[in-house]
Amino acid sequence: MPGPEALPDEFALIARLFAPLAKDAPGAYGLLDDAATIAVPPGDELVVTKDLIVEGVHFLPNDPPDLVARKLIRVNVSDLAAKGATPLAYLLGVVLPRGVTFDWMKRFANGLAADQARYGMTLIGGDTTASDGPAVFSLTAFGTLPRGSIMRRGGAQAGDLVCLSGTVGDAALGLKVLKGELPWLDEASRAGLIARYQVPEPRPELGVHLRGLAHAVLDVSDGLVADLGHLCEVSKVGAEIEAALLPLSSATQAVLSREPTQIGTVLTGGDDYEILFAVPPSAFPAVQSAAASRRVPVTVIGRVSDGAGVRVIGPGGMPLAVKGGGFRHF
Ligand SMILES: [Mg+2]
Repeated sequence: MPGPEALPDEFALIARLFAPLAKDAPGAYGLLDDAATIAVPPGDELVVTKDLIVEGVHFLPNDPPDLVARKLIRVNVSDLAAKGATPLAYLLGVVLPRGVTFDWMKRFANGLAADQARYGMTLIGGDTTASDGPAVFSLTAFGTLPRGSIMRRGGAQAGDLVCLSGTVGDAALGLKVLKGELPWLDEASRAGLIARYQVPEPRPELGVHLRGLAHAVLDVSDGLVADLGHLCEVSKVGAEIEAALLPLSSATQAVLSREPTQIGTVLTGGDDYEILFAVPPSAFPAVQSAAASRRVPVTVIGRVSDGAGVRVIGPGGMPLAVKGGGFRHF
């Protein structure tokens, strides 16, 4: 049997794997030029964000390469979504360790193809190099929105409702399952939690509808309490959320019913890539109908208050103190 095909040189790699991803972007010039151009509709402006992922830190060497690529796109789309932008294009930086096969990169490119189609983006350029270190993939994403309409982290006001899309905690529990924890959990729940960790579900279709309604928005990547803390800090307000109001998947409910202390993981775990926002009660019905029409669940989990910091009311009505990676009862 022939061995795995080694990587071709950089130019052949671009021609075979990356140029097909750029064919729908006229300003990418087939990835044959020094730079690309991005046409922005009149009245719009570009929103730019970058997230990179490192082998051994953000993904494991034996993770499926298409899922690594999809997570790379999705964590960036999530940042665009939180700002109310529509995804448009991206630049890709690739650092490959020696020994990566053509098949691995082909599967990686297939993952990019699937998700750039899903989110309406095209590759417009990038750079590739080899090194003796781990694999590193860096993506710079561009989105558009009407000039001046970007949603910021600051702007939340006392009395606003604290809202969250989707469910919380699944990704952090999925990582625990991958590490061999929660061995008693049923197979379907395990698979569902792992999927949420490996392939998050960003919400650009909700983000664009929050423009003009939400006072402050971010996406949850560091953990619910930490990210709400970031929003409060920039907005110079406090917030109180109730554990009993948190939107939970059936798998996470199953975990909590057997191990109630995992509420700490749900509150502080990261990687959910849901949208967390503050909206005045008067604007909430409009948010609700926009979210329902896009089939994105949105849940009110608390309220913005004067002051500073995040207070969490626990399942039994007792305040929980949440600190860093864990939590403790008062
Ligand atoms: Mg973010």
